[in-house]
Amino acid sequence: MARKATALPFDKITSASPESLGLLMLEADLHAARLDHRARLAAVSAALADGAATARGLRERFPGLPAHEIARELQVPVLAIDDDPLVGSIWRFAEYRPRPPRIMLYTRGLAALEQALVDGLAARLLGRATTQDVFVAHELYHHAETIRSEAPIARRYQATLLQIGKWRWRTGIATLAEIAAGSFAQSLLDLPCHPKVLDYFVPVVREFQTRSETAFSS
Ligand SMILES: [Zn+2]
Repeated sequence: MARKATALPFDKITSASPESLGLLMLEADLHAARLDHRARLAAVSAALADGAATARGLRERFPGLPAHEIARELQVPVLAIDDDPLVGSIWRFAEYRPRPPRIMLYTRGLAALEQALVDGLAARLLGRATTQDVFVAHELYHHAETIRSEAPIARRYQATLLQIGKWRWRTGIATLAEIAAGSFAQSLLDLPCHPKVLDYFVPVVREFQTRSETAFSS
């Protein structure tokens, strides 16, 4: 899961429903912009439902297990790496790599997020889960999607890029997998919010990073 900052008032974000957050995410997706409002609503509901159903399936198989232990049971190593979390304008917390399957956690990215979740915010946004639980769970959805036989959620809704006569050039919508992965984490870990809310801390996280780098170099 890589993160780009998006501006929105904070209180609106924390009280937004998963559906509203999903729609906001689709608005930022270049290809989803080609879908009409009804299709976007349907795509968001399908992505949220797929994430929740996938989580229920794994929860039934592994009752009570934390996310990283479910990953271990599925033979997906969780590796903590110390790389710079910032690549271009993207702040990285975690990512799934399929060959061989593994989950990378950017420890510096996550530590900065934890610093930003002050004044009871962590409990309000994450309940009893830790940031690591949330990101491991999110990436587990990408793993579950990779190994199952059904079409990925990103391909179930397609936008037409170009139409010439009967010929259509269509594309999937990658953001749907992110909406589903968030819904998966919310359902698996019983989170109070869809973890998309954490993205809105990226500007705060980057501010912390800049300040600590300044302190370090002075
Ligand atoms: Zn993701």
